[in-house]
Amino acid sequence: MGSDSEERGLKGSADAVGDSQKQDGKNPQELIHWHNSCGNSIFIQVLRGVAARALQLSRGVEKPSGRVTYIVVLEGLCRFSVQELSARGTYYVARINRLDLTKSELEQAEQDQDLILLSRQFKAAAMELISILEQKQKTAGRTKVLLETVPVHRLADIFVASFEISFEEQLSMLDSVDLKVRITKATELVDRHLQSIRVAEKITQKVEGQLSKSQKEFLLRQQMRAIKEELGDNDDDEDDLAALERKMQSAGMPPNVWKHAQRELRRLRKMQPQQPGYSSSRGYLELLADLPWQNVSEEPELDLKAAKESLDRDHYGLVKVKQRIIEYLAVRKLKPDARGPILCFVGPPGVGKTSLASSIATALNRKFVRISLGGVKDEADIRGHRRTYIGSMPGRLIDGLKVVELFQPTFYTFLYLLPLQRVAVSNPVMLLDEIDKTGSDVRGDPASALLEVLDPEQNKTFNDHYLNVPFDLSKIIFVATANRVQPIPPPLLDRMEVIELPGYTPEEKLKIAMKHLIPRVLEQHGLSSEFLQIPEDMVKIIIQRYTREAGVRNLERNLSALARAAAVMVAEQDCNIQFSKDVQPMTTSLLDSRLADGAEVEMEVIPMNDNRPEISNAFASASVLVVDESMLEKVLGPPRYDDSETAERVATPGVSVGLVWTSFGGEVQFVEATAMVGKGDLHLTGQLGDVIKESAQIALTWVRARAANLKLSTAGEINILENQDIHIHFPAGAVPKDGPSAGVTLVTSLVSLFSQRKVRADTAMTGEMTLRGLVLPVGGIKDKVLAAHRYGIKRVILPERNLKDLTEIPSQILSSMEILLVKRIEDVLEHAFEGGFPWRRHSKL
Ligand code: ADP
Repeated sequence: MGSDSEERGLKGSADAVGDSQKQDGKNPQELIHWHNSCGNSIFIQVLRGVAARALQLSRGVEKPSGRVTYIVVLEGLCRFSVQELSARGTYYVARINRLDLTKSELEQAEQDQDLILLSRQFKAAAMELISILEQKQKTAGRTKVLLETVPVHRLADIFVASFEISFEEQLSMLDSVDLKVRITKATELVDRHLQSIRVAEKITQKVEGQLSKSQKEFLLRQQMRAIKEELGDNDDDEDDLAALERKMQSAGMPPNVWKHAQRELRRLRKMQPQQPGYSSSRGYLELLADLPWQNVSEEPELDLKAAKESLDRDHYGLVKVKQRIIEYLAVRKLKPDARGPILCFVGPPGVGKTSLASSIATALNRKFVRISLGGVKDEADIRGHRRTYIGSMPGRLIDGLKVVELFQPTFYTFLYLLPLQRVAVSNPVMLLDEIDKTGSDVRGDPASALLEVLDPEQNKTFNDHYLNVPFDLSKIIFVATANRVQPIPPPLLDRMEVIELPGYTPEEKLKIAMKHLIPRVLEQHGLSSEFLQIPEDMVKIIIQRYTREAGVRNLERNLSALARAAAVMVAEQDCNIQFSKDVQPMTTSLLDSRLADGAEVEMEVIPMNDNRPEISNAFASASVLVVDESMLEKVLGPPRYDDSETAERVATPGVSVGLVWTSFGGEVQFVEATAMVGKGDLHLTGQLGDVIKESAQIALTWVRARAANLKLSTAGEINILENQDIHIHFPAGAVPKDGPSAGVTLVTSLVSLFSQRKVRADTAMTGEMTLRGLVLPVGGIKDKVLAAHRYGIKRVILPERNLKDLTEIPSQILSSMEILLVKRIEDVLEHAFEGGFPWRRHSKL
């Protein structure tokens, strides 16, 4: 049955045909009520139909609801149009007209060129469909015969009926009386069917390809496993996982963590080692197994006397610092779970911060873990990355706590390494090194994560994002180090007790070197004083000419370099020395290249715990090697510093000597000013911050305002900048500088430039200056005076209000220097120039 779709509606005279289903109650004659394939009702006005003969009627199985389905097989006879429709009983009766063409009409129509073309297209599409189907099922061969025998217009009907199309499309096919329309529609439908078959085929091919690849892999792996079993080889993966499980069992995890770990292990067991998540899951379980969940090192009764002795034995001087550490230990002894402050050692590099922290660990008989926080900008460095990230890792704290295989360095480290298993404990002394070097950026604030770590309330259940289960950090004793206090975020600083370790004086350095560094260096290199002696004079030379530092790190490096060179010399001198078979002597070419290399001084000290008596004994037979100046030059190269540097730098007017404070301790900073033809502009270079730039501006303003009083200009010449620009430079240009303490140095350099008088080479200065010429106090006085002393400077100009800071400076330094305290900038100028500076006191300004 069919209808003209555009004529669908409720109006018009209705005709109906055949065994249509239900009628609309109101107007049965006009409307036929259909159920479409989706079960929705549609009302259509029937104008056309298809006459059919019922071939078969079969009864389906009765459903529990009592409904029975019947299946009718119909054979279509012809299309017709409805002339008249009348209801008779429950049926409709219609007068109809045949629509299909008669035989003669058909023959005529087949002559039409368009139809011939369309038929050809349809047959081609149908042929293609058949050949595709033929590959899948043999029955398609019969359809091929049809294609050759049955006329095209019938074929169109047959073909379209053979595959699934929508009910509407079926209706519209029946409705297409016109041959051309019918064949075009049929071609479209066949084409679409072809395409859908092709796409489906492509998808199956892809899936099949993938399947077969993984199936192949699986098969091969199974075979491999079978071969291994046959050969008696154990399966590595299985073995590995069993070992991992054993390790996990002995890790002593709390019950909830153990459950979590087991779940993860089950997941791992189901995976193939080549699978993407395998290694990440395995790494995670390894970490869980490596963490010290319960393992603690036994803490015997603390012997304060022994601790004091050990501190004294390892460190020279530092009386106050050691006293504070003993106090800290005493409190811990009386109340082991006391929430004492976190000690934070602040000072320049190489002053013994790390070694003091490790002494605390030794005194408490705890393990020592060092975590470097320098350059940590990402919160995830402390708290870990979530495991969803590719390449995720635990934070540095958790990572620092796990068991690691260390390679124990030995003598001749470059020749071999001995693996050494370290036992992890949950109660070590943990050094948070360089806590002032953490910064925050878009990736979060590590300081806030650190706060959580250091907070006794929160660190019991520290949650590392990678670990994803709480870990107890409360048994750890934290100690921190920093170069400077200022960059430490205030909330973090609030939790810590700052213990300052300023730099050492040359005398202290000498004592440290003679008492501690030289014996240690000799021991580390398997030498003894019977072979190598470094006299005091030579150590003094190293301190003065080869190092210019607040701490003793470079000093230690230089001493190590001497010890290494000495060891090599003996190896060269006496080839008959019998080394044990795992120690090999160095070759001559290596020695030459090492001695010739000036960069040797920069090499790291290689700690060597292994004392090898055979070397010392061998050396004992040789004569004692006493280090002299020529050996110093040969091994360390020509001296790097001398006291004449300051004199050379201030040889021209416009240069003054300032004292600054950096994270390396105090430093001497030269300020250079020069004038050139210009329009009165001020140029500043040397990576300066805003504060120091403003200081320069203030200094220039002050000098210009006082130009006449300073006799820098004649009374008539008001503007000393007329037709000239001023350029001020702070070497070293690559180091960023900031702060107000260069004020007095800037003025001195400008006055020196305009007056064309040289400043004194033996005088350095520091102090902030106001626009009115008052000199204000500044920080870091001790470090600055020590730096001046290192440079061989004899006089230091300081703000008067810094007088109180002088008590921190060792008396032998103070007695060897002249400290000049000033209130006003005029006093600075008076001291900075040879013979004072002429200053017209009764000025109108
Ligand atoms: P920091 O951590 O302050 O940079 P280190 O603790 O690493 O410095 O010290 C560098 C070296 O100097 C270490 O070998 C240390 O033992 C030694 N050292 C520093 N100060 C002293 C001291 N007062 N007495 C003995 N040795 C010292």
